[in-house]
Amino acid sequence: MHPSKRVTTINAGGDDGWGLFNAAKKRVAKGQDIIELTQGEHDITTDTRILEAMHKAAIGGNTGYSAIPGIPALREAIAARVTRQSGVKTTPDNVVVTAGGQAALFAAHYATCDPGDKALFIDPYYATYPGTIRSVGAVPVPVKARSRDGFQPRPADISAKADGAASLLINSPNNPTGAVYSSEIMTGIGRVAQDHDLWLISDEVYDTQVWDGDHIPTRSLPDLAPRTIQVGSMSKSHAMTGSRLGWIIAPEDMASHIIDLLTNTNYGVPGFIQEAALFALNLGPSIEEEVAAPFRRRREIVKRIVAGQQVVKAIPSDGAMYAMLDLRATGMTGEEFGYKLLDREKIAIMPGESFGSAAAGHIRVALTTDDDKLEDAIRRLLALAAEMAETADA
Ligand code: PMP
Repeated sequence: MHPSKRVTTINAGGDDGWGLFNAAKKRVAKGQDIIELTQGEHDITTDTRILEAMHKAAIGGNTGYSAIPGIPALREAIAARVTRQSGVKTTPDNVVVTAGGQAALFAAHYATCDPGDKALFIDPYYATYPGTIRSVGAVPVPVKARSRDGFQPRPADISAKADGAASLLINSPNNPTGAVYSSEIMTGIGRVAQDHDLWLISDEVYDTQVWDGDHIPTRSLPDLAPRTIQVGSMSKSHAMTGSRLGWIIAPEDMASHIIDLLTNTNYGVPGFIQEAALFALNLGPSIEEEVAAPFRRRREIVKRIVAGQQVVKAIPSDGAMYAMLDLRATGMTGEEFGYKLLDREKIAIMPGESFGSAAAGHIRVALTTDDDKLEDAIRRLLALAAEMAETADA
């Protein structure tokens, strides 16, 4: 008797890039005052109006099993939102409500990849991607994007690895890099997906956090909707990370297979959470702008301060709630710098290496603390980088 290979191989070994994050958490637990700029967690909680709607639904009796694909009104509201954003008619039958974007990422790969199939994804990547792919028995194949391209992937690089692959996972606006894929890159990606007959899994959970340029929903590109599985979530757009409410948008037959999977896994998302999500979506775009506004502001703060020195370069983060900084001039890895910053300045960030080898020598700073504290943290971070670069030169 032994645990299945499927579960014992989910983690690649080591700390999977979470060592610094865990070290910072330990220090916080011991009562140390650490500025945590690690996780993509807002510094506000879910809007009280949404919580009241959740409470009202639960107290009103909506505590039993709920509709597995999602309650009809929520599927309708999500379909309307996606139709509005993409210009492509999307019906409730295309929508499956999931326990957060993460469950949607799992379901999308489960539904497109057989064991042993190659599943492509872009490096740097959101930390769970390779584990998600391994957890369905598929083989993760990273395609490196380059720092000097602002981490926009090159379609030719994807094409070079695409032979025999089942799926390609993309993420724009991107975590960790902040890249918002240009129209040219999206068109190129679409062409690769068609040439190699790939499913396109499009993680668009940051679609409300776009600071420069336009977010191009994969669904909106000509002929791509039939091969696209879009992943969405209330986590980032409505500061509802703990509610675990996300969705999949897929062609109807694919959606119905995913409903079969959910029937045998989560068995639906709690009804009172779905009611709260419906209420939140019905608040319209104003709340999405409100939730996004601090990150838009803080991204400008980081840009301004980084522009005042030469050692650290900012990757143009056109979206999402992070700043990606290139500190290769210090001669240190992101991890080495991260530990030094934690020890010396009591500031915790994520090393680029946690998000793949393409982000080595970079760090990701989550813009998740108030403006003044963030400004102070960035100034101290840059001062440390300058000192380290001087030592490297000496
Ligand atoms: N995709 C990306 C790119 C993310 O950054 C995250 C969360 N940080 C998720 C998916 C999953 O989000 P959730 O499960 O909270 O919807």
